[in-house]
Amino acid sequence: MFVSDPIASEAIVDCIFCKIAAGSIPAKKVREDDAVLAFHDIDPKAPTHILVIPKKHIASLAEAKADDAALLGRLLLAVAEIAQEQGLGKGYRVVISTGAEGGQTVDHLHLHVLGGRQMHWPPG
Ligand code: AMP
Ligand code: ZN
Repeated sequence: MFVSDPIASEAIVDCIFCKIAAGSIPAKKVREDDAVLAFHDIDPKAPTHILVIPKKHIASLAEAKADDAALLGRLLLAVAEIAQEQGLGKGYRVVISTGAEGGQTVDHLHLHVLGGRQMHWPPG
């Protein structure tokens, strides 16, 4: 992959979700297409806990650009399809931790899909 931005390039080299997208570290995949990958969270916080990521490295929602609009839409549509496939007809929660105060611990955009139990508000 050619990456012209040296900062983005560094992030990709060290990025665990880029490595999962590239297949160089394993994950329990749920769905994959040319642009979107979904896999089970390694430390589930609900009976169903799936992460949906763009294969392209976007560090966080805050880093998304206007050019990413279609990709962001695909991520949300993938979430809805996966929720249906996973039997989450009674409901589910989608979380996008963004930045330090948002609790983001992996700096590659990811949508948490949590379901299979009652969710509460406010979240922690
Ligand atoms: P956040 O803390 O919101 O940025 O979410 C990061 C999520 O990635 C956490 O729920 C972690 O359990 C999950 N995670 C970290 N490493 C892996 C991995 N190798 N495979 C699957 N999930 C992971
Ligand atoms: Zn990445």
